[in-house]
Amino acid sequence: MIIMKKNATPEQIRHVVGEIKKHGLRADISRGEFRTVIGLVGDESKVSFTHLAALPGVKEARMVETPYKLISREYSELFQGEDKSKIVKVNDIEIGGNEPVFVAGPCAIESKKQLLRIAEEVKRAGAHILRGGIFKPRSSVHSFQGLGSLGSEEAEEALNWLHDAGERFGMPVMTEVRGEAQVDLIAEYVDILQIGARNMYDQDLLGKVAKKGKPILFKRHFGASIEEFLSFSEYIAAEGNKDIILCERGIVPIGKGKSHTRYTLDLTAVPVVQKETYLPIVVDPSHATGRRDLIFNMSCAAIAAGASGLLIEVHYNPAEALVDAEQMITPEELKSIIDACKRINKVVRNVN
Ligand code: PEP
Ligand code: MN
Repeated sequence: MIIMKKNATPEQIRHVVGEIKKHGLRADISRGEFRTVIGLVGDESKVSFTHLAALPGVKEARMVETPYKLISREYSELFQGEDKSKIVKVNDIEIGGNEPVFVAGPCAIESKKQLLRIAEEVKRAGAHILRGGIFKPRSSVHSFQGLGSLGSEEAEEALNWLHDAGERFGMPVMTEVRGEAQVDLIAEYVDILQIGARNMYDQDLLGKVAKKGKPILFKRHFGASIEEFLSFSEYIAAEGNKDIILCERGIVPIGKGKSHTRYTLDLTAVPVVQKETYLPIVVDPSHATGRRDLIFNMSCAAIAAGASGLLIEVHYNPAEALVDAEQMITPEELKSIIDACKRINKVVRNVN
């Protein structure tokens, strides 16, 4: 990264960017009140740091070894002049501030009636953001794939319901983008674009979604190390989109024999990610455990670990849900989780 002098002129900054581009790299320009820092995006072996360091207005050219430098604390500290976490703003909701944010809704949107009822009930329970799957990633081609699989008209209709439910109950909305072909359509209707665990490694999809300039909820793949998780987040940041909400949703269970949970919730990811990056991280106890009887405890634990929020699947009649019925909780259960988590958050953050 190139650290500009405090009094560097716009012309000097443009010149440095030009030099970077000349070598086939891209430049991520971060202008802080403190100073401007330029992150190099691409194959750094193609540029000479000694050459860049000697350009007018440059204070220092520093080689950063981490594969996720644009989202690293070191980078933000350089241009902001202090170590500051990022708050991702979605309408009037702040993710990464002092209060935990609750994202709730059905696994899959099944009908307009189902969505509106769940939206109303999760809002009443205290949720801030409404989620609902339309293009569902499913393990079997023989199971319900979400309304998005029925055709583009049905997909657009479901997106409309989601958008309208958000307006009606005053919540930003989020749905998963499963493939590149869906990006433009979905971005017209939702406030947050979700990248599912299975697509964490799809760098083409990440690039395309990032370019929409909307906040992205980015889920960790169940087989990914934290380093991989953050390295792939960098593909989003490299497009100039830093409105990234990271999401821990469980990693593969270990050992032989029956696993008692769907995945293993890795709560260590929360403080580790917070030390490595300035991005907020939320936890999804629903997919991590796959069991409704564990959601309360794991939600409390996630907030105690410092998570900026939770993503929880909710249905008024869990047994009836077409997808992920076993992990669905009722709006009443959601309310007791939100109440408990708010109390835990006060203790953890020592805020009143
Ligand atoms: C989801 O949130 O609907 C989902 C499918 O989760 P994941 O990608 O974590 O499996
Ligand atoms: Mn689900």
